[in-house]
Amino acid sequence: MTQAPDIAANLDRVRERIAAAVARRGPGPAPLLIGVSKLQPLPALQRALAAGLNDLGENYAQELRDKITALGHDPPRWHFIGALQTNKIKYIVGRALIHTVDRQDLLAPIAARAGQGGLIQDLLIEVNLGDEAQKAGIHEVDLPALLDLIAAYPSLRCRGLMLIPPEGEPAQTRRYFARLRRLRDRLAADPRPGVALDHLSMGMSADYEIAIEEGATMVRVGAAIFGARPR
Ligand SMILES: *Cc1c(COP(=O)(O)O)cnc(C)c1O
Repeated sequence: MTQAPDIAANLDRVRERIAAAVARRGPGPAPLLIGVSKLQPLPALQRALAAGLNDLGENYAQELRDKITALGHDPPRWHFIGALQTNKIKYIVGRALIHTVDRQDLLAPIAARAGQGGLIQDLLIEVNLGDEAQKAGIHEVDLPALLDLIAAYPSLRCRGLMLIPPEGEPAQTRRYFARLRRLRDRLAADPRPGVALDHLSMGMSADYEIAIEEGATMVRVGAAIFGARPR
């Protein structure tokens, strides 16, 4: 028999560790804590919201849609952190910050949907820094062209970059986080309309403290808050 996780206590512990990592990092705002609730049942999300969490991240478009129908909007603020499929964009646009734009062919459908709703869709670009062929994320060399395209869509607003580093030792993970920050700094030196690069979405349960030390402004923490995912 497994014991239900104490989500409020888990959240307290994560918040303490975030505060300690911020203190090590030095001045600047605290990062946004996104509780990754994919595959978790609604009562788990409700317990986290009752304990003061304001941001939830989901990986599957229909699950996001269903949870928004059940729990509403703002709060919680929703984040879409899963693989994007053009036919499911309708469940996401206007409802969540999208963290996982990684190719040009996603832009037109997202922009069209946002335009229909008369809104501006905020998004982050997922970057593949490890040159892992099978993994999502745009390669560094292709980023400027993607940003140029985003700048041409009035209904899209880029807010920053997102990273899932390759599996590895903490020291290696830290180098990837630092690389994303430097990449952001280089790109930000060349400003484009509709493209702000203030946000770095990086760090998960295993490495969010390192990510904060290296400049994360958003951390995506699942298991450390909600416990192991069912199935
Ligand atoms: C599942 C997931 C997370 C959370 O992972 P944990 O290890 O449970 O913290 C964060 N980011 C992305 C993109 C995910 O898919």
